[in-house]
Amino acid sequence: DDQQEMLSIKGAVTSYGQIEVLHEVDITINSGEIVSLVGANGAGKSTLLMTISGLQPLDRGTMTYKGQDLSKVGSDRRVAEGIVQVPEGRQVFKDLSVQDNLLLGAYTRGMSPEVENDLEKMYSKFPILRQKRHNLAGELSGGQQQMLAMGRALMAKPRLLLLDEPSMGLAPLIVEEIFNTIKDLKKEGITIFLVEQNASQALALADRGYVLETGSVVIEGTGKELLSNEKVREAYLGM
Ligand code: ATP
Repeated sequence: DDQQEMLSIKGAVTSYGQIEVLHEVDITINSGEIVSLVGANGAGKSTLLMTISGLQPLDRGTMTYKGQDLSKVGSDRRVAEGIVQVPEGRQVFKDLSVQDNLLLGAYTRGMSPEVENDLEKMYSKFPILRQKRHNLAGELSGGQQQMLAMGRALMAKPRLLLLDEPSMGLAPLIVEEIFNTIKDLKKEGITIFLVEQNASQALALADRGYVLETGSVVIEGTGKELLSNEKVREAYLGM
């Protein structure tokens, strides 16, 4: 059922040292949704994703995932429970093969016939990765590295996939391919939290969206509402 709450963030405050970067952020992500988070450089989008992944501590506020309080759940266990992040800038292991990168995505699951089966599925989804499975990840193009980063995350069997600027630095045709892949993942039942500077495409795809400005949520609504919002159009869509 679509309206079931998957992730609930309430009053989230996060800092780097003395500098507070997120100020009482409230965000809800329902099961099956694509939720997009847009905002300028430095607004705190990546910080929020890292806080959800458990890579950045939450100073105040609460996060619950499928009704479970995340405060005492370490980052590895969050991955095992289905919260999986694709980091900004892909961060594939450039000196490892494509296949080893994919297998590393499944490290929380151990080696099993099921993992091998999923590897096959991944290669069907991204045929270019099969073709290049013995190449070093560093030899792939930017778009292919993005697909590898997503494939690696999928090997962890995400329920909630956190995507940090997947379209960054990619040519328009490749961007379209990435966004199509995101739509497919939603169809497969994966819930998606998408951080993007490419606001028009991210909102067009989204069930709902949030605008983050210097660490605060300033606008929220359906993707459609945000696309037609005056302020969003001026500040983020260049209209
Ligand atoms: P970008 O698109 O540039 O990644 P963003 O919206 O994701 O922007 P964050 O990367 O979350 O923003 O950064 C939010 C703020 O925190 C910025 O002012 C940034 O300079 C600061 N910041 C980020 N990482 C650190 C860090 N490790 N130590 C100190 N300050 C940081």
